[in-house]
Amino acid sequence: MITGKNYIGSQLKASGSKTLKTFNPLLNKENPWVFTEATQDEIEEAVTLANQAFASYKKYSGVEKARFLNAIAEEILALGDTLLDQYCTESGFPRGRAEGERGRMIGQLRAFAEMLTEGSWVQATIDTAIIDRQPAPKEDLRKMLVPLGPIVVFGSSNFPFAFSTSGGDTASALASGCPVIVKSHSMHIGTGEMVASAIIKAAQKTNMPEGVFSNLIGDGRTLGTSLVKHPLVKGVGFTGSIKGGRALCDLAAQRPEPIPVFAEMGSINPVVLLPNALKKNSQKWATAYAGSITLGAGQFCTNPGLLIALRGEELNDFEENLNQAIEKIQPGCMLHPYIYADFNSGIAKIEEQNGVSKIAQYKGETTPNHGTPTVLKVDGKEFLENKILHNEVFGPFSILIECENETELIEVISKLEGQLTGTIISEENEIETHKEIISALQNRVGRLIFNGVPTGVEVCASMLHGGPYPASSDSRYTAVGIHAVYRWVRPLSYQNWPNDLLPAELQNENPLQIVRTINNKLTLSQI
Ligand code: NAP
Repeated sequence: MITGKNYIGSQLKASGSKTLKTFNPLLNKENPWVFTEATQDEIEEAVTLANQAFASYKKYSGVEKARFLNAIAEEILALGDTLLDQYCTESGFPRGRAEGERGRMIGQLRAFAEMLTEGSWVQATIDTAIIDRQPAPKEDLRKMLVPLGPIVVFGSSNFPFAFSTSGGDTASALASGCPVIVKSHSMHIGTGEMVASAIIKAAQKTNMPEGVFSNLIGDGRTLGTSLVKHPLVKGVGFTGSIKGGRALCDLAAQRPEPIPVFAEMGSINPVVLLPNALKKNSQKWATAYAGSITLGAGQFCTNPGLLIALRGEELNDFEENLNQAIEKIQPGCMLHPYIYADFNSGIAKIEEQNGVSKIAQYKGETTPNHGTPTVLKVDGKEFLENKILHNEVFGPFSILIECENETELIEVISKLEGQLTGTIISEENEIETHKEIISALQNRVGRLIFNGVPTGVEVCASMLHGGPYPASSDSRYTAVGIHAVYRWVRPLSYQNWPNDLLPAELQNENPLQIVRTINNKLTLSQI
């Protein structure tokens, strides 16, 4: 079933000589499949095809694109257990996670299809002419969102389904009317090929233009760089490390025609634990946080990597409870030996800094590639003085910052880099006296959580998955939920355009029955 080839549009090609293999971290051995890297000619062909496809795909109606996205969901489901097995083999994740993440991928595709069928997402805005306005007449102006052009998607390591070949970036770009070229993540190329085959089948069944989707194999520095530099590429979606994301942002900015890169990168997701909450529910919060820190072997972008609290008895109790919970949690298999190695060296680096101590760690036997859950501790003063302590350690890890007083706690928050999430654990009445903490947190994060854990990202329109740099490269946009579509579009205005030459969304009769803004009022009316 796995061919090891690139999808250049609907054609499977492998004319190159460089090959790659994936790794099974659970069995700690290389997988058998051989994947052939795309050549420069194949890259050129995929981008040219995407550009040709754009000419027609951008004109497809919302209903036609919705049919395509729903067909992708059906074809992915039709791959059944074979796809789930491939996912587990290349990621080390258990079956339950594979099923859950496939459900999320399918749900995302269907949510974008629903958005397209309803149609109002294009933000149609109309200001009708006032011919007799003095001193000069007002022109008829109509604006809506239109797609950018071919988009390159870098699949993520930690979400082989939900943020990869047919994940949120691909689904949102296809929904917007942009063709997509995926740079398959090197850790799960086989899973990527299977999902790509489903997209290609769906494209053929729903009469999409050749080249609307391609899936390429290769390493970031060769394939990734060529794609981002290609003049016909008009935008990039990325999930991964700060180093990788930043390199791509810089590359895109240096092009003769700079293009946007929507990169979702590092985050340590601060959690502020207020004293009354710890006093009242120490055990409950310790158990919840032990679970959140270790969920998915800690390989979530929303992993709570930073706990912040005030010095005191309540905190001592919490530490004890956290230790008891963490030392019982079996290490989970990490995605790849190099992620596992980075995790261990990340902890070692933090452990050797001044004033750092260990407060919780799994006590049992460990096996290769299984990350040992660990929580370290340092005081607020050291944290403020040492930037190394602010580094993300990707895996089941967190560091507790013990603050002298509230002023120091607020300074700790204010000195953090941008984050995806910020959480407050508090009793209802307690929060009233700590409003400055909320205000400080609000400046640094994309999502504020009250009495919960940051892991578990709901896919819905009101979700914001992004945040000030380096959590994401553009804090105005989300990578999760239907509003992710707004990354791949730009507004286009039509002035005095003949009604029958306008896109349906802007025509007087409102043939699509969408909500529009006409002369500053939201309405379903015709003109
Ligand atoms: P990564 O190393 O940034 O790689 C992500 C993708 O970008 C890969 O396809 C990679 O290609 C490509 N790439 C990386 N650097 C590039 C460059 N300079 N030029 C062009 N392409 C480049 O991230 P990862 O492999 O997913 O995981 C590594 C680390 O990223 C983790 O240890 C963790 O710290 C972080 N991470 C963070 C999040 C988050 O959401 N915060 C999520 C996942 C990972 P190749 O690998 O094929 O070269």
